[in-house]
Amino acid sequence: MENFYAMLKATNISKSYGNSHALKDLNLTVQSGEIYSLLGANGAGKSTTINMFLGFTEPDSGTVTIAEKDATKQAAETRKFIGYIPENVNLYPYLSGIENLDYFCRLAGLKYSTGELQDFLTTCGLQSEAHKKKVSGYSKGMRQKVGIAIAYAKKAKVYLLDEPASGLDPLASNELSELLRKLAKEGASILMATHDIFRAREVCDRIGILKQGNLVKELKSEEVTANELEQLYLEYMKN
Ligand code: ATP
Repeated sequence: MENFYAMLKATNISKSYGNSHALKDLNLTVQSGEIYSLLGANGAGKSTTINMFLGFTEPDSGTVTIAEKDATKQAAETRKFIGYIPENVNLYPYLSGIENLDYFCRLAGLKYSTGELQDFLTTCGLQSEAHKKKVSGYSKGMRQKVGIAIAYAKKAKVYLLDEPASGLDPLASNELSELLRKLAKEGASILMATHDIFRAREVCDRIGILKQGNLVKELKSEEVTANELEQLYLEYMKN
């Protein structure tokens, strides 16, 4: 019953800016519990796809739905499902991690006890010594964990991540992969845009290669090794 509809669904979406196609007849689904990665060169349309699910960008044609609700026309409703993690998570530097989490939860109308807030941060991988330290001293990976904790506390069913691994050291990147797997195991649908072929292969269930607004290839991660995926990606980029 849980998977009877695709949590995220883009149907024949196209978007142009002037004469250039940002997306052309894109069809994409992400089920509950699934991690899907969009790979593609700069300007391929990855962020445009994510922005459509966020309801920030309206398609010229086609439909974008989250839990069968239109992400453009019912954006106020669909955004309730979403946790959005941009490349750089913006937090208040002079507040601690737990104060930031509390602040953003209250903005969303949620009031949690200190213990609950700590549990969210711990679940999202932020070590307890850091909870009460100012965010100005946090690494990029630590800020990202707070960003994910904000989405987690909001009980997001969908996580949209735009180049989340960019600029993370290998350990932080590995922790992010593990956290995403944990969220998917709990039933979240995860769509991420990335340039990191190795991580995409490692953490995602399915991968889509976008080229100039066209989804030229979709595959299951288990079907390829990281090297094979890289070769495939390079072939699509060259041709
Ligand atoms: P990157 O890896 O650089 O983030 P991307 O795959 O996310 O790239 P998009 O940002 O989705 O690519 O851009 C797709 C195309 O649409 C590009 O040609 C881009 O210049 C264009 N584009 C995106 N947003 C706008 C906008 N607001 N106005 C004009 N053109 C835009």
